[in-house]
Amino acid sequence: MTENFISKSIFREYDIRGIVNETLFQNCAYFIGKGFCSLNKEKKIDSIAICRDGRLSSPEISEALVKGILESGVNVIDIGCGPTPMLYFASVSLQVDAAIMVTGSHNPKNHNGFKIVLKNKSFYGKKIQQLYQCINKQKFQNGVGKLITKDIKDDYISDLLKRSGPFPNLKVIWDCGNGATGEIISKVVKKIPGKHKVLFDKIDGNFPNHHPDPTIEKNLIHLKNSLKTERADLGISFDGDGDRIGVVSKDSNLISGDLLTSFLSGSILKKNKDQKIILDVKSSEKAIKSIEEQNGVAVISKTGHSLIKEKIKELNAPLAGEMSGHIFFNDNWYGFDDAIYTALRCLQEINFRKGGLEGFIETLPKSFSSPEIRIECKEEEKFKIIENIKALALNNYDLSDLLLIDGVRAKTTIGWWLIRASNTQAALIVCAESDTNENLKQLLIKVKNYLKLVGIKEISEKI
Ligand SMILES: [Zn+2]
Repeated sequence: MTENFISKSIFREYDIRGIVNETLFQNCAYFIGKGFCSLNKEKKIDSIAICRDGRLSSPEISEALVKGILESGVNVIDIGCGPTPMLYFASVSLQVDAAIMVTGSHNPKNHNGFKIVLKNKSFYGKKIQQLYQCINKQKFQNGVGKLITKDIKDDYISDLLKRSGPFPNLKVIWDCGNGATGEIISKVVKKIPGKHKVLFDKIDGNFPNHHPDPTIEKNLIHLKNSLKTERADLGISFDGDGDRIGVVSKDSNLISGDLLTSFLSGSILKKNKDQKIILDVKSSEKAIKSIEEQNGVAVISKTGHSLIKEKIKELNAPLAGEMSGHIFFNDNWYGFDDAIYTALRCLQEINFRKGGLEGFIETLPKSFSSPEIRIECKEEEKFKIIENIKALALNNYDLSDLLLIDGVRAKTTIGWWLIRASNTQAALIVCAESDTNENLKQLLIKVKNYLKLVGIKEISEKI
């Protein structure tokens, strides 16, 4: 067998992901099932829970994956079509050894992939590379496993509701974007107070209305229009597999993941102060300060949902959130990123806080942030470039003003900037935040100079 027998490009940092029938074929799924069981045979895996999102390619990919697992002598519990957090829930509630989700998450409709949990921990980074090596060697274990199908939707919904509330009597618009959350959300809203309108709840892998990625403004047009025409109080949107949330306030503002995390930490910190709340390295200073003002300890982590899930366990933090909209509750929930549970906790928090979400946002200082700027660079060079920027920054800044856990984040008198290497693309990511627009421009000029010094030239239009 050649190295091309299965494309290495699909074995990424946080998950396995590719373009269907270009880099990801049905037989890849079979070998991923076989390889995963063989690689972990020492861990004595008895059964694996499987779930799939609503993409057109997901049924056949899931079927091949199941076949690969069964032919390795491992049992499968197939929970059908649903959101990724429902699979994480299955991993806990069914007490299986591993769980594999077939999902393309928020990516284009011809993409698909796998998110894997092993013994309730994310399977990522080096382990994903080991899986690739194992498949390439083709030394597979063989056996005969048993397939069980199990519908856990009602169990999931009743646990979601048992562990959240009380809820306010609000008018809420929910946008499932024809992703895998539709069926669950339609059932959940019937069981909570308030008036609810659910948009695009029919699971449809063609995503005929808009793409299910709530961090992109153009995907929120329907939700915002409905908020206005219905005179609703809150808008909630999900990505294709329900592990990322977009919360839109009454006045049509998308609340960024860091501020949403700070908002959600209020009642948790009221119960017990000095608890650790985790934010990713792209988060704003005002989110950090806001957590501190609520008597919490803000901990900055590397970006990446797998890394944050590990950090939340390591620190036993009650809550973590990423700018991308992955929010992780360990307070009364299981520490994984569940946008449906987050939506319910958001309603609970609105009920808890006097001024609701808008009142909280009003208390924050004004600031100006750049969008997330992507600068393409060669995959093999990106980490070297970051090392060079680190060396330059260490010459120009006090060590106490630098955070070097994931790229370079520097605090200056007029704000902060971040340059990091993307873990998912051949690109550098730049963000900056300042108190005035003029100062933000100054910060970005500084960043541009650093990038020029390390040999990146084609940045003029982006920054
Ligand atoms: Zn997702």
